[in-house]
Amino acid sequence: MSTLSKTIPLIILILLSSCSKRTEIQPPAMNGDDIFARVAAFYKIGPKPSGSQNAAKAAEHIRQSISASGLNPETDEWELLNGEGIRTVYRNISVDMPGKSKDFIIIGSHYDTKKIETVPDFAGANDGASSTGLLLSAINTLKKSGVKPHYTLKFVFFDGEECLVNYSGKDGLFGSRRLAARLKDSGMTSSCRAVVIMDMIGDRDLKITIPANSTPELTELALAVAAKEKRDFISKSKNSIIDDHVPFLDIGLPAIDIIDFEYGENNRYWHTAGDTLDKLSSSSLETSGNLLMRMVFLIK
Ligand SMILES: [Zn+2]
Repeated sequence: MSTLSKTIPLIILILLSSCSKRTEIQPPAMNGDDIFARVAAFYKIGPKPSGSQNAAKAAEHIRQSISASGLNPETDEWELLNGEGIRTVYRNISVDMPGKSKDFIIIGSHYDTKKIETVPDFAGANDGASSTGLLLSAINTLKKSGVKPHYTLKFVFFDGEECLVNYSGKDGLFGSRRLAARLKDSGMTSSCRAVVIMDMIGDRDLKITIPANSTPELTELALAVAAKEKRDFISKSKNSIIDDHVPFLDIGLPAIDIIDFEYGENNRYWHTAGDTLDKLSSSSLETSGNLLMRMVFLIK
C-alpha cells in the first residue's frame, strides 16, 4: 500500500468526524427585571398547597402566561391520596419548545407551596415562585428570540413537590414522580438527555449549592459555565437533597438540582414567614436564568 492510499482514508475520517461535530448555538440573554416581575405576579397569588383553590389558580396563571408567549401549554391532571390520606387533584403544566433534535431536555420547577400550619399565608417567594417565574421568563425569551436549541426543551411546572408529613413513595414529589413514571412506561427515557431542576434560585445573596446527589457531569457543566463568567456563586455541596430531580435519577436519567440551600443565615428563611419577595433580587434571578440557559445549550 502506498503512502498516498493510507493518507486518503485518514483525510476522509477527519472530514467525517468534523462533520458530526455540533455547531454551538448561543442562547438568548435573560432579563432579571422580567423574571422578577413574573416571580412577583406569581407570588401574589398567595399560598398554593396542592389541591387548594389557589393551586388551581396558579396552574391557570402558568397556562395563561405560556399562551401569552404564543405557545400551547399541556396540562396533566390526576387525583391521588396526598400525604395526609386526603384525595387531592394534582396538575403538571408543560410546554415543548422544539429543537433541531427530537431528543429532549426537561427543565423543571415546582410551583406548589409548603402547607405550614404556623404560617398559613406562606406563599414561597423563593421556594416555589422564584423558579416558576424564571421558567416562564425563559420560555418567553426563547420564543421571542426565535433561537432554536439543539435539543427540544420540555419545560415542566410540577405540582406536589412539597411533602405534608415526610418524603416517601406516598408523600411529596408527586408531580415529578408522575412524569418519571410516564417517561418510563412510554419507553421515552432514551430520548431524554438530561433533567435540570431549578428551586430557590432568587436569593439576593445567591449561593447555589449543588447537592451531592446530582449527576457529576451536569454539576461540572454548571461549575464550568459559572467559571467561564469568572463568577463565584456556585459550589458543590456535600449533602444530598430530596427534590424533583430524584425520581428521574431513580429511572436512570442524568439529573441536577440547581438550588440555593443557604437562604439566610443557617437557611433561616426556608419554610418560614421570612420567605418573602424582599429577600430576592433581579440580579440573582438573572444570574440563575443565564446559568440555566447556557447550561442547557451546552448539554451533549
Ligand atoms: Zn420547600
